[in-house]
Amino acid sequence: MILQPRDVGWLEVICGPMFSGKTEELIRRLTRAYYARQNVQIFKPKIDDRYDDEAVVSHSEQKLPGVAVENLAQLKGALSSQVEVIGIDEVQFFDDQIVEFCEELASEGRRIVVAGLDQDYRGRPFGPMPSLLCVAEYITKLMAICVRCGNPAHRSYRLAEDPQQVLVGTDEQYEARCRRCFVEGYPSSSPSSDDHQQ
Ligand code: ADP
Ligand code: ZN
Repeated sequence: MILQPRDVGWLEVICGPMFSGKTEELIRRLTRAYYARQNVQIFKPKIDDRYDDEAVVSHSEQKLPGVAVENLAQLKGALSSQVEVIGIDEVQFFDDQIVEFCEELASEGRRIVVAGLDQDYRGRPFGPMPSLLCVAEYITKLMAICVRCGNPAHRSYRLAEDPQQVLVGTDEQYEARCRRCFVEGYPSSSPSSDDHQQ
């Protein structure tokens, strides 16, 4: 059961692998807030310009107008003082200061809904996500469907050979995989082996 807060702010985190429906869920929640005549703003990091510069777009092509920002300072500059509900997509790309910022907004009585990858392409915690999950009131962990076997998938498997953590994904570069198929893709270096520990 979800307890609906009445007169306080709070933080919601939507997490999961690529293709799990995080952006769809973010759009759904913010659209409902908009219908409830609340003042809504949605942001995304500029790094993610896969589909549309100024809109948040899901893999299923659902869209919501948004503001693309280079960093947290720009986000703060673009934030309206009237805003009641704030959405942030691809929040894993912000640095750790985003955590304190979300806490501040919630303490001011606003509702913040953030969506992001909880694990990187090796199954390691991604950026500020562990801390955000820790301080949030509400957490939703979604799964995609493993493209190899059809099981629920909680990892994003990178098809391209590239060791950098941030490699902005197209549908061709990543696929959703379950635990077993993810490990089978890395026969000599599973995410539990030493070289993958942070
Ligand atoms: P995320 O933000 O988590 O990457 P999106 O909300 O952008 O996910 O897209 C989710 C949509 O992606 C699904 O509703 C479905 O239409 C599509 N999709 C493509 N591949 C898969 C997959 N392997 N598992 C589930 N959904 C998929
Ligand atoms: Zn699988």
